[in-house]
Amino acid sequence: MPPKTALRQSDENAWLDWVRRQVRPAAVGGLRLGIGDDAAIVRPRSGWEIAVTTDLMIEGTHFRRGIDRPEDCGYRLAMRGLSDLAAMGAEPWMLFFSALWPKDEPPAWRRSVHRGLTQAAHAAGATLAGGDVSSGVHACFDIVALGQIPRGQALRRDGARPGDRIFVSGTLGQAAWGRQMLDHGHIPQNPRERSALRRCQRPCARWELGEKLRGLASAAMDLSDGLSSDLDRLCAASGVHARVDETSLPLAGPAGVGQNFLALALHGGEDYELLFTVPRRKLAALTQRTGASIQLTEVGEILPVRRARKSQPRLWLQAGNGRSQPLAPQGWDALRPHTRH
Ligand SMILES: [Mg+2]
Repeated sequence: MPPKTALRQSDENAWLDWVRRQVRPAAVGGLRLGIGDDAAIVRPRSGWEIAVTTDLMIEGTHFRRGIDRPEDCGYRLAMRGLSDLAAMGAEPWMLFFSALWPKDEPPAWRRSVHRGLTQAAHAAGATLAGGDVSSGVHACFDIVALGQIPRGQALRRDGARPGDRIFVSGTLGQAAWGRQMLDHGHIPQNPRERSALRRCQRPCARWELGEKLRGLASAAMDLSDGLSSDLDRLCAASGVHARVDETSLPLAGPAGVGQNFLALALHGGEDYELLFTVPRRKLAALTQRTGASIQLTEVGEILPVRRARKSQPRLWLQAGNGRSQPLAPQGWDALRPHTRH
């Protein structure tokens, strides 16, 4: 005799039906075939290319159940992919979401993660176009994000040249500060703390800025692992060194109040702001194109690699008194045996 559940719709199919009802595929152009077949079929605009990025989010490494709300996990996962698209100057387009769902959580937990993810997708004008699902002991998520860029106009990491000015968007170290509050169960006491916690739970990738930087920025990337680590990567890709001006950094809070905001700004991750370089001759155009719509701060300058300096650190931190010291990359390292918490 077949098991009683044989005539019931499988849990997987019921879940996929629910997922399908949540998405609005008509919201974006170019999705010829979405969720429901073996593969999606997509067509970019004529004269545009597709940027593709993928990102993992693993329980115990990037979030903890019980501390991070499921909606925030989904939202942050989507923003991680969208931030990589922003860094390339790509317009958000489609997301593919794969999940290993923990067996001990009810369907409501899955739906909450999913809701956070679709909120972020809708905010960016992107749609969910596919994914995969399984279950296990721990939660593990993967996002694949697709964006569109006019052919040849992608922002890359390897174009920074000596003399270019270094910029960051927003403030730095907020998410890392918010993460500390979450982990220590600290309830925010003032607007500054509330906004840091919010930044950690609901970061906002800068895709609109990324699109404006096409043709202006000589190099760009997003700040996911901390300024010291990400700028080091940008300099390595471009074959240059850099000086960061300590007093210019947009910190999450004032110095001398117990929290080391400078260290958070230099090494704290998950801000999902943009780091980019602009040649001096394009500085006026940058102001013109971005206006006051977003906070941009010049934080340093790209330096040439001098022969004698080849074995020296790529990054230098210049203090207010003009003295420079080496700045070692001390941000998030995915293969270092520790967690973000
Ligand atoms: Mg990135």
